[in-house]
Amino acid sequence: MDLRDHIRGIPDFPKPGILFYDISTLLRHGPAWRAAMARLAGLIGPYRPQLLAGIESRGFLVAAPLALELGLGFIMLRKPRKLPGATIGLDYALEYGSDRIEIQADAVVPGQRVVLLDDLLATGGTMAAGVKLLRQAGAVVPATAAMIELTFLGGRSRLDVPCETLLRYD
Ligand code: IMP
Repeated sequence: MDLRDHIRGIPDFPKPGILFYDISTLLRHGPAWRAAMARLAGLIGPYRPQLLAGIESRGFLVAAPLALELGLGFIMLRKPRKLPGATIGLDYALEYGSDRIEIQADAVVPGQRVVLLDDLLATGGTMAAGVKLLRQAGAVVPATAAMIELTFLGGRSRLDVPCETLLRYD
């Protein structure tokens, strides 16, 4: 199955001049979603993760089914003030402005191997922030992964761990 057939590019979203890669059409198609998850599971298995982490919100749609597939637990990196209890947060720069992600302070047992997932790697800023936050929470992060990579934005050069991706657009 060619997963590319299930991803569409929507011009001028969310701003004029941006081509937005929409995974909704893949998620809508059961066999394509299942095939994408099976292929990602094959790519991240060798890193021997003990937990999978997802970045809000589309990262949850990748990390949670993969965690089930691999028989692992799942943890959330969320937008500010969404998680109950003690949290650790990290502010990071965006192209315009800044953002913040948080994790529950006790989400990771120190030394646990956690692979971080998102739907798409663009400039890499979000993934790099996620890796940093997971490390602050005590995780060892052997790898990251995403369904889509926009190679022309060079996101993987901002990461000091491998990033496994299924579909690359350049
Ligand atoms: P980065 O921080 O520039 O790598 O942007 C990646 C983040 O922005 C991910 O969490 C994506 O969900 C989101 N993102 C950026 N561009 C797109 C796109 O074309 N389609 C879907 N999500 C995108």
